[in-house]
Formats: sequence, structure tokens, C-alpha cells
Amino acid sequence: MNYVIIGSSAAAIGAIEAIRSLDQKSAITVVSREQEEYIYSRPLIAHYIARRTSDDEMLYRPPDFFVQNNVEYKPGVTVTGIDTVAGQLITDKGFLAYDRLLITTGSKITNPAIKGEDLQGVYSFQTYAQARSIRQKLKEGTKAVVIGAGLIGLRAAYGLEEGGAQVTIIELLPRILNRVLDVNGSAMIKKVLQEGGIKVYTGCSVAEMTGENGVLTGIILDNGEKLEAEIAIIATGVTPDLDALKNSDIKINNGIVVNKHFQTNYADIFAAGDVAETYDISRNRSMVNANWPNAYEQGHLAGLNLAGRMIPYEGSLGMNSVSFFGVPVVSLGLFDPHSDGVDDAEIKERLIPQHNIYQKIVFRDNKLKGAIFIGDLAYCGAIKDLIKSQTLVGIIKDSILEEKYQFSAFLRKKRYKDLEGRFIDWPQTHSSGQRYEKSFNEESWTERERDKRNWQKNGEGVK
Ligand SMILES: Cc1cc2nc3c(=O)[nH]c(=O)nc-3n(C[C@H](O)[C@H](O)[C@H](O)COP(=O)(O)OP(=O)(O)OC[C@H]3O[C@@H](n4cnc5c(N)ncnc54)[C@H](O)[C@@H]3O)c2cc1C
Repeated sequence: MNYVIIGSSAAAIGAIEAIRSLDQKSAITVVSREQEEYIYSRPLIAHYIARRTSDDEMLYRPPDFFVQNNVEYKPGVTVTGIDTVAGQLITDKGFLAYDRLLITTGSKITNPAIKGEDLQGVYSFQTYAQARSIRQKLKEGTKAVVIGAGLIGLRAAYGLEEGGAQVTIIELLPRILNRVLDVNGSAMIKKVLQEGGIKVYTGCSVAEMTGENGVLTGIILDNGEKLEAEIAIIATGVTPDLDALKNSDIKINNGIVVNKHFQTNYADIFAAGDVAETYDISRNRSMVNANWPNAYEQGHLAGLNLAGRMIPYEGSLGMNSVSFFGVPVVSLGLFDPHSDGVDDAEIKERLIPQHNIYQKIVFRDNKLKGAIFIGDLAYCGAIKDLIKSQTLVGIIKDSILEEKYQFSAFLRKKRYKDLEGRFIDWPQTHSSGQRYEKSFNEESWTERERDKRNWQKNGEGVK
């Protein structure tokens, strides 16, 4: 078998490790546009510009990872097309044949054309190479402007601020982080950023970037206001990188359409990570859920499927996790049902603005569908697991945010039930071939709760 992978990031690494766990002999070739000979951790580039991460710590796997795994790595190669009939890639360095292909081309930045964008000092924020250049330029008091207040823009802004810059954020929409938080959450984080010394302009855009001798000196806003700038980062959006698929008939929607085995409409071509559209557990439809853990997990499963062990993917969950000035922020799944066009969701909230605490959980059909945690991450991990497993939680809805005994007891019981389920051994003749999953039964939970209260009343304590 001749495996070929396009891309050399989280999903590709997951796939290589999975293929090699099943097949040590077949050829694996990885082609990537990256210039580096080694694999770095993309989420760390914001920490890198802030000098909180060293070059060594940027490595996601040891430098000899490809050698150790007997992989032929071809960096600096751009795939420009896929010949699905001949089974070969068309690249800027020639053709490359495959038996099974995995596409992990991730996301690309979609920056609008702004006058002056080619000035020295203007960056987008996606690669280690860009981060190295920004870090070199960044000094105490450097004036920096970040255009776009999505997750990548704010990570860049915070990294610049930590690295000593005076930072201004420009956002076209009336609020920041509009795909990561709801209105309450956005307002709270805008306040946190401003109190930390970052200027945030919402509802305005950049008309032009100005410079002298080809070097950036300033920004002119659409309202005519002028800002000094030595560094500008344009981070106005990302989209799945489908450039390699040009002129092929591999099915795409927003991302590459795949089945639960990560196969595209061609049985020998698979896709995973930020470029693939997978089943979203909380929204019950397919979508691109772009984050590092999803990309690795999808790549790993895709690798197993590529190597012939057909294991279905249960689905992805939208997750964002970041921290600004000591205030942690997490959002999960369907955290803002109205903006998703869902109007039958039930919401429970806990908002303490003076302490920068905001917690929100979203239910639908007695299941948890999404959540926001700002300032207090208590039970965040448990909530994430309950969303992923789509456990019935109707009976404990009211106790979750209040962290009452019932919720802890529920989690403990659920863990026992999950463990019990894992060890049940079904006779072969009765097996449906499906993995056994013991679901949590709400009625029996109600019974147990009633019993427990009765025991407490009788002074017998809780078992
Ligand atoms: C600044 C920043 C901060 C982030 N922070 C976080 C975070 O804190 N937590 C989190 O979970 N996620 C974070 N993310 C998102 C996370 O990095 C991505 O979800 C993850 O990298 C996706 O992995 P991937 O393997 O699917 O694709 P990518 O990491 O996007 O890699 C795609 C690969 O394909 C290659 N490629 C693309 N097109 C071609 C082509 N035509 N020919 C050859 N090669 C090609 C690229 O060079 C690259 O190697 C962040 C992203 C950025 C940019």
C-alpha cells in the first residue's frame, strides 16, 4: 500500500501514528506547503510571539518524528490538483502517485484586500514563520493593530500585549468573538481586554494602511481616525483550505464532505481535520469544527480507516478555549441557540459581572447541547463529556450550575454505569456487532433520588 497525506499538522500526525500502529511496512509520503522540516504546534504561535514559548517548546513531535516512523516527508511542496482517475497528486514539484490519499489541508486565512496590505510589518497569523518574524519586530512599546476580533485575532492581540506592545483591535461587527461567545460573553471579554490595557474598537473598519519606504507606519479607519502602527495583523476570518482540490470533483460543501469513516465520494480518498465537514454532535448536522484536538482525533481515526480498520467517527464538538488576563473562557457546542436558528432550547445562566463570571448551559430534548464558561470553569470538563455523550440530564437540570449534591452524585453514578457497560460480555451469538452502550435511565434515577431522600429522612445517610 502507498499512503499519501497532504498537510503536516495535527490531523496528519494523528493519521501517521494510527497507520503505523497497524501497518509498519507500507510507504507513507507526506507533502506539505510548510517550509519547516519538523512539526510545530500551531496553537502555540500566540505564546511564541509573547516569548512565553521557546523554539524547542514549539515542536509538537521530536525533530526525527518522520524518520522514526519511516515516513518520506516532502516540505515546501504545494499540491495544485488531484487526478482522481489516475490516482496521483499534481504538485508544483511534479506528480505523486497514491493508493490511498488523506487530505489534511486545514484552514486558510481569508483576508479582504486592504490598501497597503503588502507593506513590511503587515502580517496574517497562521504559521510559525510569520510568528518568528513578528517576534523579531516586537519590542516594549511597539504600536500594534489587530484587524478582526475573532479567536485568532484576539489570540494575536493578547500575545502582542504580553510581548510588550500597545495594542488596538479593530472589529467591523458591533461585538467581538461573535462566533465564540454570545452577547453577554462578548461584552464581558471586551471589558476584560480594555481593563487589561488593550483598546477595542467595534463597528468600524480599516480604510487604508499607510507607510514610508515600504514599511508600515499607520492605519486610517473608515471614520477618518488615524492610528500609528508598526505591526498590523489581519485576522478577519478562516475557511477550509480547498486549493488542492481545484478542478477535481471531490464533493465539497463548506469543507470536504466525508462519511463517518472520513471517506470522500472517492473510496480511496479520505479527509480529516479543519478541512473536513463532519457530523456535529450538538447541532445534529454536518459542519467544520476547527480545533486542534478535533483535528488530531479525526486524523487518528482516519488513519485507522485508511489502513483498513473501519472504525466509525461518532462526531465532533465545537470547542473554544482561551484565557485573557487570568480570565479563562470556554465555549462548547450550541452555546448561542438563537444565532443558530434554534428557538426551542432551554437556557440556564449564572452571571456575576463584577467578578467576570458567566456560566450558561443550553438544553434541548433534555440533553445538554452547549455551554459557555467564563471566569469559573467548575464542572466544565464534565459538561463537555455530557454534551459529547448526549446523556439525558433532564432530572438534574436545575442543580448543574448551582453545583448541588445531585449533580456530583449524577456524575458519579453515570461513571459507574459506563464502567459496568464496558465490562459486560455478550455471547457472540447474541451480539449485534454494535458496541454496547449502557444509557442512563432517567426514570430509574428519579426512583433512586426519591429513595435517597427517604433514606436521608429516616436518618440512614446516603449510600
Ligand atoms: C493563531 C492560531 C491559534 C490557534 N489556537 C488554537 C487553540 O488554542 N486551540 C485549538 O484547539 N485550536 C487552535 N487553533 C486552531 C488549530 O490550530 C487548528 O484547528 C489545527 O491546526 C487544524 O489542524 P489540521 O491538521 O486540520 O490543519 P492545519 O493545522 O491548518 O494544517 C494544514 C496543513 O496543510 C498544508 N497545506 C494546505 N494546503 C496545502 C496544499 N495545497 N499543498 C500542500 N500543503 C498544503 C499546510 O501547509 C499545513 O501543513 C489555532 C489556530 C491558529 C491559526
